[in-house]
Amino acid sequence: MKAVLYNEQGGVHVETVAVPSPAEGEVLVRVNAVGICGSDLHAYRGRWGRPKHAPGHELVGEVVQVGPGVTGFAPGQRVCAECFSHCGECRYCRAGLYNLCQKREYVSSKHHGGMAEFCVLHHSSLFRVPDTFTDEQGALVEPLAVAWRAWCQADAKPGDTVAVIGAGTIGLLAAACAKAGGAARTFIFARYEHQAHAARQMGIDAPAVSSSEHFAEAVLTATQNLGADAVVETTASADGFALAAGVARPAGSISLVGGYSGALSIDLGPVVGKELRLRGSCCYGISGMRADFASAIALIESGAVDPSLLVTHRYALAEADRAFAAAADKSSGAVKVLIVPRST
Ligand SMILES: [Zn+2]
Ligand SMILES: [Zn+2]
Repeated sequence: MKAVLYNEQGGVHVETVAVPSPAEGEVLVRVNAVGICGSDLHAYRGRWGRPKHAPGHELVGEVVQVGPGVTGFAPGQRVCAECFSHCGECRYCRAGLYNLCQKREYVSSKHHGGMAEFCVLHHSSLFRVPDTFTDEQGALVEPLAVAWRAWCQADAKPGDTVAVIGAGTIGLLAAACAKAGGAARTFIFARYEHQAHAARQMGIDAPAVSSSEHFAEAVLTATQNLGADAVVETTASADGFALAAGVARPAGSISLVGGYSGALSIDLGPVVGKELRLRGSCCYGISGMRADFASAIALIESGAVDPSLLVTHRYALAEADRAFAAAADKSSGAVKVLIVPRST
C-alpha cells in the first residue's frame, strides 16, 4: 500500500509499504479521508522529532478485517477513531479520564497512521460513523471532539460570554461548540481574513480580523469592562496566553488546548490577581456523562455544527507533499486540508 512518510530533512514523501495485519484487539481499516492536523505539522517542521510511521489520526474509513478478540465491529462498517487506544482498567480509565490512560498508545506509535491506504487501529479507539455523514464530516469528528472537550474544560454556562483565541480548526470548532452550548456571545480572535470568513460561515458572531488590542477592547466593551466568562486558548503561544488572561473576567476560566512544543515566557500575574482558573484539555475523554467523540457525532447529526464547512483543500495520497505545503502555509487560505486516499 502507499503511505505518507516524513523525510529526514523536512517535508513528506509517499512510499510503498506492507499492508499491516490486525493483531489481538485491532482492526484493519481502509482509509477514505484523513485531515492534516496542527500536530502533524509540528513533525513536518521537525519540531516534534521525525516519527518513522505515517502520521494521520483525523480519519474516516471502512473496516476490512477484525483481529482476534474484537467484538462490536465488522467488515463494511464506517468508523472514525480517537488518536490513542486505552486499556479500560487503570485508575484513569475507571474514572472516565481515559485520555490520561497509563497504557494509552497513540495511532502511529507502532503502526502507520491514517495517511496510508490502510491502517490498523485498536478497537478501544473506534466509533461508528452514521450513514448520513459524508466522509468529510466523518474525518472531522476527531478535531470536533478536541474542540468540544476544550469548551467543556472552560466550564462555561449557557448565557456566558466566551472568547476563543486563535481561529485554526480547533479554535473555529471551539467557537461553534460554544454557540451550540448556549453561549450568549462568542468572540474569536482571527489573524487571517480566510479564518474570519470561515468563522462567519460557521455562524460565529464578531469574527472580524483584528489586532489583539482591538480584540481585547471589543470583548471588554461588550461586557461592561468585566471580560469573558470563559476563554479557550488554542495558539500555544505567549501572546495567545497574554490575550486570554487579558480578556478573561475576574474569577473566569481559561481552557488551554494548544499543542505546546517548548517553554514559554508568560506573565502569571493576572492568574493570581483575577483568580483565574486554568484547565488543560488533552484530546478527548468523557465530559459529563458522555464521551466527547459521541458528543461530536451528536453535534454533527443534529446539524448544530458542520465541521466539513472548514475543509478548504483536498488532495490525493500521491499529492501529500502539496497537501502538507498548503496546510503549513497560512497564506494558502487553508483551514482544514484533507488527504483522500480513496474517493467514494
Ligand atoms: Zn488532531
Ligand atoms: Zn487505562
